[in-house]
Amino acid sequence: MSVSTTLPAWPPALSPEQHQQLILLSSTYALSHGFTLLPPQSDNPPKSAISAPLTLLPTPFPRKLYELAISLQPLYNALYARITLDWEFLDRVMGGSVSKVDSFQGELWRGWKSIRNDLIQQLQLGLFRSDYLLHESAKEEELSIKQVEFNTIAASFGALSQRSTEMHKYLQKATDGFYSISPHLANSANFPQNEPLKNLAAGLAQGWKAYDEKDAIIMFVVQEGERNVFDQRWLEYELLESHGIQVIRHTFSELSSLATIEPTTKKLLLPSPLLPSSASKEVAVIYYRAAYTPTDYPTSSEWSTRILLEKSKAIKCPSMALQLSGAKKIQQVLSEPGVLEDFLLGKDRPDVGFGIGAGKLTQIDVDNLRSSWIGLYPMDDSKFGKEAYELAIKHSERFVLKPQREGGGNNIYRENVPIILKGLEAETEEEGEPSKKEGYILMELIEPPKGLRNHLVKGGDNHSRNSDIVSELGVYGVSLFGGDISQNITSTAGTLLRTKGRESDEGGVAIGISSIDSPLLI
Ligand code: ADP
Ligand code: MG
Ligand code: MG
Repeated sequence: MSVSTTLPAWPPALSPEQHQQLILLSSTYALSHGFTLLPPQSDNPPKSAISAPLTLLPTPFPRKLYELAISLQPLYNALYARITLDWEFLDRVMGGSVSKVDSFQGELWRGWKSIRNDLIQQLQLGLFRSDYLLHESAKEEELSIKQVEFNTIAASFGALSQRSTEMHKYLQKATDGFYSISPHLANSANFPQNEPLKNLAAGLAQGWKAYDEKDAIIMFVVQEGERNVFDQRWLEYELLESHGIQVIRHTFSELSSLATIEPTTKKLLLPSPLLPSSASKEVAVIYYRAAYTPTDYPTSSEWSTRILLEKSKAIKCPSMALQLSGAKKIQQVLSEPGVLEDFLLGKDRPDVGFGIGAGKLTQIDVDNLRSSWIGLYPMDDSKFGKEAYELAIKHSERFVLKPQREGGGNNIYRENVPIILKGLEAETEEEGEPSKKEGYILMELIEPPKGLRNHLVKGGDNHSRNSDIVSELGVYGVSLFGGDISQNITSTAGTLLRTKGRESDEGGVAIGISSIDSPLLI
């Protein structure tokens, strides 16, 4: 679907006094409400926090396209559940060249393969985020949404996004009308309801409930030196306060000496830090906010820990298979002819519940989902791959090249694409080995509409820049699947809008570029 909405001139003019007042109100709101990050250098325990990068105003977003993105999420939840349950497909796509040329994906796939027949926990939990950019087609001057990627591990900023929505609503109410200089801002119905913190925590709680052990806890696996801790802490507080569930956080390196598995029941046990040493806690759900990047596994001991956790009875969010499903290579293969039809319409696909059982979806659903995609190409030796390679060399200005990585900062853009592709070709070692470039996918660049600006405020900074911006919309989804069908759960869990200066190709908030925004529906 595309719409011919004209986006309003943005932002509406603010006087210097209004601008200063908004900076003061937003920064103090952020600090008061835990809309915060740790500063770059921080003690343990920390002594201070800074407000997360934010926007003074919400950014206009076409209502129809926002609603479309939300309406696609149940389909995506079901699609990724089915991919994860299709071992043959995962083996074909991730066990082939990718696992040979990308040692991280190779380790993940081989590790999963070595234990997958012995797993005793069938249920798997996904807290997903499907990311989109607005795309303006050059010819038609129409806007559509195009998917950037689908995240199946450590999809972050749910809590801070809820805070950002709340902050913009607060500013509208607190500024005595001057925030309402634009008619779009004056109408509170244009600020969507958005509660990803509540919904993601509810998803974790549903996993816990399915595990069915009232004294069990949820374990967060976190990175050393994580600055985005408040986003995670809010989930802990919500689990405790709304669901009565305790959380223990550990890094991989701590877990290598702490985690044990009870040999017969495969219960995952952790010592409780504040109880006598004999006391231990049973883990119902493992929630990874780490484990998605090679630096999370500096030695083989982290991989051993990952495998140990995977073999336990705890429900993994995500399992290794679900993490593999989120690879960019999977996204590319899904876009090949017939693959999506097979997953959504195939008669022998498992019923993952949700009313999306075999035979319940139609070609219209397939077409809707596919309309959110832009060109994706393999970098392999197939005819299609070879043609794409030529295209990438000739028209590099149209493409981004992506390795199988998460967390931002890994992609190669435009004129750098041919340089890197040729370098990867040259690196390929032996006859018969796949080319290193097969560990990458090529993607057409999405072209966000020009002309929108907003005030981006970086944490702790007393001034804001009014910049040309690009906003990325993320839609959260929850899916519990893989076990008895009556236990399956799916939900759409809210949204995230991250806004960056147009000059920056990458979008991570944590790597210091994007601001957490909220959509103003127009
Ligand atoms: P990661 O898993 O590291 O977040 P992404 O695929 O999301 O990887 O890419 C990181 C960023 O690069 C995105 O947030 C977006 O800003 C930019 N980007 C990625 N793909 C495209 C694309 N096809 N067109 C334009 N920008 C893109
Ligand atoms: Mg990602
Ligand atoms: Mg991303």
